[in-house]
Amino acid sequence: MRLPLPDLAAMDAWGRKLADALLPGDVIALTGGLGAGKTTLARAIIAGLGHEGEVPSPSFAIIEPYDPPAVRLPLVHADFYRLNHPDEAQEIGLDDYREGAVLIAEWPDHAGGFAHEPGCLSITLEVVEDGRIAIVEGGADWLGRIPV
Ligand code: ADP
Ligand code: MG
Repeated sequence: MRLPLPDLAAMDAWGRKLADALLPGDVIALTGGLGAGKTTLARAIIAGLGHEGEVPSPSFAIIEPYDPPAVRLPLVHADFYRLNHPDEAQEIGLDDYREGAVLIAEWPDHAGGFAHEPGCLSITLEVVEDGRIAIVEGGADWLGRIPV
């Protein structure tokens, strides 16, 4: 599916709809170059799950967990850009953080990729003019659940 997200308001609105659809164990895999809008979409999803206030970019910490009651579901926001090898995702304890949580992953391919998981929604962001287009592809668990 190709979804136009022409401005920040569209990005925020769709991110919040995605948040409403999320179930524990889901992965939102965000692909796209620097400045494509990965963190912007992650922020909208995290806000949609109930988090109030700032959402730091996890580019330095790599993993940023959020826990109820501040959010509806436990979630982990990760930016794997700085990983040199997929094994490093396990070394920093990714599996422990993921237990029962939603994973929002920037640069998922640096962690080995998650597209083989049925709960993975792969979103590739492309810059078009002033806005973005999202190319969205869901695993089996996402059938009939992807908001538009
Ligand atoms: P990334 O995490 O992919 O490097 P960011 O989320 O930091 O990218 O976004 C980079 C810039 O793109 C920000 O200034 C943001 O405001 C802008 N941006 C994000 N989404 C959109 C959109 N749908 N339309 C226009 N600008 C956007
Ligand atoms: Mg980012």
